[in-house]
Amino acid sequence: MTNDRRVRDIGEFGLIERLSAALPAQVRDGGGLEVGIGDDAAVWQPVAGERVVVTTDSLIENVHFRLDWTDWASLGHKMLAVNISDLAAMGADPKLAFVTLGLRGDERIDDLESLYRGLGALARQHGMIVAGGDVVRSPRAVAFQVTALGNSRRGRVLTRSGANAGDLIGVTGTLGASAAGLRLLALNPTDLRRQAATADRLIEAHLKPEPRVALGTVLLEHGATSAMDLSDGLLGDLPKILSASRVSGRIDERRIPVAAAVRALFADEWIGLAMRGGEDYELLFTAPPGAKAAIERAVQGAGGTATFIGDIVPMESNRPTIEIMGLDNRLRTELPGAFDHFGPAES
Ligand SMILES: [Mg+2]
Repeated sequence: MTNDRRVRDIGEFGLIERLSAALPAQVRDGGGLEVGIGDDAAVWQPVAGERVVVTTDSLIENVHFRLDWTDWASLGHKMLAVNISDLAAMGADPKLAFVTLGLRGDERIDDLESLYRGLGALARQHGMIVAGGDVVRSPRAVAFQVTALGNSRRGRVLTRSGANAGDLIGVTGTLGASAAGLRLLALNPTDLRRQAATADRLIEAHLKPEPRVALGTVLLEHGATSAMDLSDGLLGDLPKILSASRVSGRIDERRIPVAAAVRALFADEWIGLAMRGGEDYELLFTAPPGAKAAIERAVQGAGGTATFIGDIVPMESNRPTIEIMGLDNRLRTELPGAFDHFGPAES
């Protein structure tokens, strides 16, 4: 039967042809691409005068995703979304993507076409071109790698190192929804929380994050001093801005934006999900107090929200600290230990 054909039945070149055909036409050509899929390398004419911004990210089966928890189209969306999110965090315009698939060989062609349709829909939404890639054998686990290129805007980008003492700390959207979605996926399907009306939305936040490209542009153009995207949780990522900028931070837990659904379904742990849960792919940024009103207005104009949750203070010793005003109205200090991909698994 044709719909049960596997990668090893049609081979690498047959697969590349099928996957390329699964992309929308707008995603295969244009955008300054002079030579695309099918030659030894891609040739691209960047926008004159702009810097080329490059990022790469990998998703490994059973490390970053489980094939029994996600559908293939969502996986295709996510593998591109995490890269677009890094470009958004720089305030850059996404332009090109390169996709490497590591496959066992027994994957269904139908599933991989779904993967490409998910990826292609997001690429189209952001005006990106899929300009090439590679297919390799990966006997132990399915693995994806995406490299994305963008252009700076008027020669400028946002980095992690620009935060100054006196700046405010802000985040876009809400925090903890993706971690809550992951918890829901791990629950027994008969668990009542899995059947809550809001459960699907939280699971979608985990499986199909929306990169905040328009908001990154707003932040760049309205005076943000630093930014990054939240992949490792607020308390995992804020230290990266603090270290790069050589400053310390203060956070007010009572102001952290958390969706009502997360609070309702995880009454005892929602603040932990918001502070430490990863993969929200919202933007964390700093800006001087004078830019606050303009940022709030412009973010709203772009259909988003921005919440100011703390401020930047001078670094007192050699290492940044984070002082946290807790939900219990008590102050505590965290010595940040950044998320470590090779460290012990978090409980
Ligand atoms: Mg990032």
